[in-house]
Amino acid sequence: MSRFTLPRDVYHGAGCLAELKNLPGKKAIVVTGGHSMKATGFLDKTINYLKEAGMEVQTFEGVEPDPSVETVMKGAKAMQEFQPDWIVAIGGGSPIDAAKAMWVFYEYPDAKFEDLITPFSFPTLRTKAKFCAIPSTSGTATEVTAFAVITDYAKGIKYPLADFNITPDVAIVDAEIAETMPQELCANTGMDAFTHATEAFVSTLNCEYTDPLAIRALQIINEYLVKSYHGDKEAREKMHDAQCLAGMAFSNALLGIVHSMAHKTGQPTAADISFTEQQTQCTFPR
Ligand SMILES: [Zn+2]
Repeated sequence: MSRFTLPRDVYHGAGCLAELKNLPGKKAIVVTGGHSMKATGFLDKTINYLKEAGMEVQTFEGVEPDPSVETVMKGAKAMQEFQPDWIVAIGGGSPIDAAKAMWVFYEYPDAKFEDLITPFSFPTLRTKAKFCAIPSTSGTATEVTAFAVITDYAKGIKYPLADFNITPDVAIVDAEIAETMPQELCANTGMDAFTHATEAFVSTLNCEYTDPLAIRALQIINEYLVKSYHGDKEAREKMHDAQCLAGMAFSNALLGIVHSMAHKTGQPTAADISFTEQQTQCTFPR
């Protein structure tokens, strides 16, 4: 038996952020990172669209790159106080990953972080809120995946959390947001997406459902990554879609040795190695 899980809705194309106006709900918390979404106006647009949907909106800003367990717990506390029925995460991989983990501790305040480190062992989510993810970079594809990378700085371990419960309900893949990416980020995240598609295709867990997504992602990336780097608008949109297709593939087929090595060399502690040795069948994003 194999399982293939994707978000219920994936909106794509320039300007599709406006779909937020149609989310049915009462309260939304918007989780984001440092300054880029605010500076480019997309944070305000997000808030305004949610208000147009009739929702009360609160923000949780300042999620750091490589988000910490502390940030996750802080966000979960804010959610427990506000009681949103939508969690809307906008930005790069970090704020979206952090929001996914916050979601778990919002719905299960008594859960311990240690409870989540065993892959595919999460409690059932969506008892309090649904999750909408809006990526600003064209690479991690966390808007469609079952993964979130959270760092325990006290232990020096980067935990790749994995469970289909944290696959978002709605993904908004709006190329207008990706157009704001600086060139270097465009290149780095594009190569990340290329690696996701390649590793999903050669993964031992690949299947007829994941291969078409991986292959098409590779074709698009091959044709458009360099053009996207040089600022071609159409290419930026193509890359934003391609990285999402790659994410759909690897969320279900998992990844390979490149991400496995990257994970270990990022945090080469003894504890990290023993943790990952328990999971020789699975490697995870970033
Ligand atoms: Zn990656």
